[in-house]
Amino acid sequence: MANLQYHQYPYMSDNYGVLVHCPQSGDTASIDCGDAAATNSALQTKGWNLTHIFATHHHADHVAGLTTLKAEHNCKVIGPAGINGVDQQVSDNDQFTFAGIEVHTLHTPGHTKDMINYYLPAEKTVFTGDTLFTLGCGRLFEGDAKMMWHSLSKLMRLPPDTIVYSSHEYTEANAAFALTIDPHNGALLQRAEKIKTLRANNEPTVPSTLAEELATNPFLRAQDPAIRQHLGLADATDEEVFAEIRQRKDNF
Ligand SMILES: [Zn+2]
Repeated sequence: MANLQYHQYPYMSDNYGVLVHCPQSGDTASIDCGDAAATNSALQTKGWNLTHIFATHHHADHVAGLTTLKAEHNCKVIGPAGINGVDQQVSDNDQFTFAGIEVHTLHTPGHTKDMINYYLPAEKTVFTGDTLFTLGCGRLFEGDAKMMWHSLSKLMRLPPDTIVYSSHEYTEANAAFALTIDPHNGALLQRAEKIKTLRANNEPTVPSTLAEELATNPFLRAQDPAIRQHLGLADATDEEVFAEIRQRKDNF
């Protein structure tokens, strides 16, 4: 019974928030809440009433609106330990239900140590915060490449038709970088063209599917022989190849 409704909206310079709504129960969850006014305006647009917040990590552009929204809506806040206002702390492999739908948590440290991703198997949907982006991955502020590769590997094991909601519109720059790592990947070349058109029309490139990311996102393709050849890392471990790609992106 895949019957939740999704409303994605932009805030700040390049963030995306998502509202997840159950028409039967009326429950509505906000995935992150960096800007309370933007979340409230999205709720008003849809006529939905906020009952839950799922926080991914402690960065201000993801949680700055949390205490305001909680005070205004008296909603239940689920998130990692250490974030002010969290009612239900979650870590790796926890399960809870939202509007009768199972939600599984994945701890995906690397960008931050506290990062939690929310996976709804019945909806084939995952919220990846700043871990996995469309054609990219988060910067390593608190963790290292080994940690991030392990985290991304958890996401890579989800079913390929999983819909991936990530938190930023970084895709055009990510595509330009991806082409320097994987220049002969036909799927990537096609996707980069599609992205150019979407962005020229101010359309979002989020969500995507895990299958698209597996085929074109260089951060998930450390095992790819052509990429390894291109980087001169034919015999390296996946983790070493990932670390090299991440470092190149930092300097891109
Ligand atoms: Zn962040």
